[in-house]
Amino acid sequence: MALRMTPELQQIKDAVEDICNRYDDKYWLTLDREHRFPDEFRTAMAQAGWLGITMPEQYGGSGLGITEAALMMQTVGNSAGVFAACSSIHVNVFAPHSIVVHGTEEQKKRMLPPLIAGTDKTCFGVTEPDAGLDTTHITTRAVKKGDRYIINGQKVWTTTAQSANKIMLITRTTPIEECKRPTDGMTLFYTDLNRDYVQVTEIEKMGRAAVDSNSVFIEDLPVPENDRVGAEGAGFKILLDSINPERILVAAEAVGIGRRALGKAVAYAGERIVFGRPIGKNQSIQHPLAESWMELEAADLMVWEAARQHDAGEPCGAYANASKYLAAEAAFTACDRAVRVHGGMGYAKEFHVERYFRECLLPRMGPVTRELMLCYIAERVLGLPKSY
Ligand SMILES: Cc1cc2nc3c(=O)[nH]c(=O)nc-3n(C[C@H](O)[C@H](O)[C@H](O)COP(=O)(O)OP(=O)(O)OC[C@H]3O[C@@H](n4cnc5c(N)ncnc54)[C@H](O)[C@@H]3O)c2cc1C
Repeated sequence: MALRMTPELQQIKDAVEDICNRYDDKYWLTLDREHRFPDEFRTAMAQAGWLGITMPEQYGGSGLGITEAALMMQTVGNSAGVFAACSSIHVNVFAPHSIVVHGTEEQKKRMLPPLIAGTDKTCFGVTEPDAGLDTTHITTRAVKKGDRYIINGQKVWTTTAQSANKIMLITRTTPIEECKRPTDGMTLFYTDLNRDYVQVTEIEKMGRAAVDSNSVFIEDLPVPENDRVGAEGAGFKILLDSINPERILVAAEAVGIGRRALGKAVAYAGERIVFGRPIGKNQSIQHPLAESWMELEAADLMVWEAARQHDAGEPCGAYANASKYLAAEAAFTACDRAVRVHGGMGYAKEFHVERYFRECLLPRMGPVTRELMLCYIAERVLGLPKSY
């Protein structure tokens, strides 16, 4: 399905673009070099109300759907900040969805307004070093003591934990061996990232250096019972509510990144003269770029179909996974081609495509990898046996 650009959607795109355009390639390259968080960009987005795009209006949000949120995130992905810009706000857009759906009235009133205002910054603690994609095998343990839980364990890759004051944290309240099903016995919390009990260590990584990812060590973290989101033991199912929206948003972001890289490649192909003519006059330069345009457009159609299904309350798992897969692949190919069209200069930081390339690898692996998305389609759509 193509996105029908209504005046309202156009307004969203224009307004987000207006903010993004204040932060150019030079700004993002500097942050990447200095490993500095884009506070200015994030604050500008929060002040304009964009962090609450999908939050209910009664708590200060805009009450819009995933379609609007995906358009916003695609616009951010298409900006000079590419995936770093997306990652600086992304978690605040989708992670609180669990609170919206499963939180009590008291929790929504307490938790949502500061997230929307950007004064609370959350991170998302799911992945663990010894569990990987097999989330049911996490071992971070929450033990009830009176009116609070005491949490011990370890998370890895927790993005923005350097500056976050909150964490959306999935734990085990019952060891897997004592559960009927592996998905039972898991409990979700949204709570203070209290550094008296939590040690955060940054992971040195290949790209997206402006936005930190971390190892998080949790020792005897006391969490009040009323920071538990949903029922004890129901955390895995609650988490599933955020999974499809997150995949659709990342897919939209990836299309944005791919289009930005393609734009740079086309511009360079038109300008760069070799053998007395622009390199873009050669079909071996033109054709891969034309192909990338088609791949990105095709992935984009899948994104809007997935978003439509989600907003209509229809099952959207197949399209959410497929759109994320196709968009991430199309973005990767477009960024790779953009580097190659630039020749040696593709490897130079001042041309920016190498930064896009480093960042475009991430939608291929997170929040779920290519392999596991293929497993999902094989099993849930094609009816093949579960392979993992
Ligand atoms: C920059 C960055 C930021 C991140 N931010 C966050 C965050 O904020 N919060 C968070 O919780 N996590 C975060 N992650 C973690 C990310 O979601 C995981 O890295 C990703 O889900 C893959 O898990 P893993 O690294 O443990 O891979 P593993 O589970 O160790 O898998 C390794 C490889 O084996 C493949 N594989 C495993 N099992 C199978 C199978 N049965 N069949 C086929 N292939 C298989 C996988 O596809 C993958 O290619 C982030 C990761 C990165 C790199």
